Amino acid sequence: MTQRIQNAIAKAKQAKCHVRRLVGRTYEVLTPKGRRYTVRCDEHEGARYVVCNCKAGATGQPCYHIIGVALLDTALAAQRRGH
Ligand SMILES: [Zn+2]
Repeated sequence: MTQRIQNAIAKAKQAKCHVRRLVGRTYEVLTPKGRRYTVRCDEHEGARYVVCNCKAGATGQPCYHIIGVALLDTALAAQRRGH
Protein backbone atom coordinates (compact mmCIF):
# COMPACT_ATOMS: atom_id res chain seq x y z
CA MET A 1 0.00 0.00 0.00
CA THR A 2 1.48 3.31 -1.01
CA GLN A 3 1.87 6.30 1.27
CA ARG A 4 -0.54 8.25 -0.89
CA ILE A 5 -3.30 5.72 -0.41
CA GLN A 6 -2.63 5.60 3.34
CA ASN A 7 -2.93 9.38 3.41
CA ALA A 8 -6.19 9.17 1.50
CA ILE A 9 -7.58 6.62 3.98
CA ALA A 10 -6.58 8.79 6.93
CA LYS A 11 -8.25 11.79 5.33
CA ALA A 12 -11.39 9.81 4.49
CA LYS A 13 -11.76 8.76 8.13
CA GLN A 14 -11.27 12.32 9.27
CA ALA A 15 -13.51 13.97 6.68
CA LYS A 16 -16.56 11.76 7.25
CA CYS A 17 -17.93 11.98 3.73
CA HIS A 18 -21.46 10.84 3.14
CA VAL A 19 -21.66 8.12 0.50
CA ARG A 20 -24.80 6.93 -1.20
CA ARG A 21 -25.40 4.60 -4.08
CA LEU A 22 -26.87 6.17 -7.21
CA VAL A 23 -27.23 3.27 -9.62
CA GLY A 24 -25.36 0.02 -10.16
CA ARG A 25 -21.84 0.61 -8.91
CA THR A 26 -21.98 4.37 -9.24
CA TYR A 27 -21.91 6.33 -5.99
CA GLU A 28 -22.29 9.91 -4.93
CA VAL A 29 -19.96 11.37 -2.31
CA LEU A 30 -21.13 14.40 -0.36
CA THR A 31 -18.29 16.10 1.49
CA PRO A 32 -18.75 17.98 4.78
CA LYS A 33 -18.22 21.17 2.74
CA GLY A 34 -21.25 20.33 0.60
CA ARG A 35 -19.39 19.33 -2.54
CA ARG A 36 -20.70 16.41 -4.53
CA TYR A 37 -18.60 14.00 -6.53
CA THR A 38 -19.53 10.97 -8.54
CA VAL A 39 -17.43 7.86 -8.02
CA ARG A 40 -17.69 4.83 -10.27
CA CYS A 41 -16.47 1.32 -9.50
CA ASP A 42 -15.58 -1.13 -12.18
CA GLU A 43 -13.94 -4.52 -12.37
CA HIS A 44 -11.71 -5.95 -15.07
CA GLU A 45 -10.31 -9.45 -14.78
CA GLY A 46 -10.52 -9.46 -11.00
CA ALA A 47 -8.92 -6.04 -10.49
CA ARG A 48 -11.08 -3.24 -9.21
CA TYR A 49 -10.99 0.27 -10.56
CA VAL A 50 -12.52 3.19 -8.71
CA VAL A 51 -12.74 6.51 -10.54
CA CYS A 52 -13.73 9.84 -8.99
CA ASN A 53 -14.67 12.93 -10.98
CA CYS A 54 -12.97 15.41 -8.65
CA LYS A 55 -9.82 17.29 -9.72
CA ALA A 56 -7.42 14.77 -8.16
CA GLY A 57 -9.40 11.74 -9.29
CA ALA A 58 -9.52 12.99 -12.88
CA THR A 59 -5.73 12.92 -13.03
CA GLY A 60 -5.50 9.43 -11.54
CA GLN A 61 -4.60 10.47 -7.98
CA PRO A 62 -6.02 8.39 -5.12
CA CYS A 63 -8.33 11.00 -3.60
CA TYR A 64 -10.08 10.40 -0.30
CA HIS A 65 -13.54 10.26 -1.87
CA ILE A 66 -12.88 6.86 -3.38
CA ILE A 67 -11.93 5.32 -0.04
CA GLY A 68 -15.39 5.56 1.51
CA VAL A 69 -16.91 4.34 -1.74
CA ALA A 70 -14.50 1.41 -1.97
CA LEU A 71 -15.43 0.30 1.55
CA LEU A 72 -19.16 0.48 0.78
CA ASP A 73 -18.74 -1.18 -2.60
CA THR A 74 -16.78 -4.03 -0.99
CA ALA A 75 -19.54 -4.52 1.60
CA LEU A 76 -22.26 -4.52 -1.08
CA ALA A 77 -20.29 -6.87 -3.32
CA ALA A 78 -19.92 -9.28 -0.39
CA GLN A 79 -23.69 -9.11 0.16
CA ARG A 80 -24.34 -9.87 -3.50
CA ARG A 81 -22.14 -12.93 -3.24
CA GLY A 82 -24.12 -14.05 -0.19
CA HIS A 83 -21.42 -13.76 2.46
ZN1 LIG B 1 -12.30 12.50 -5.47
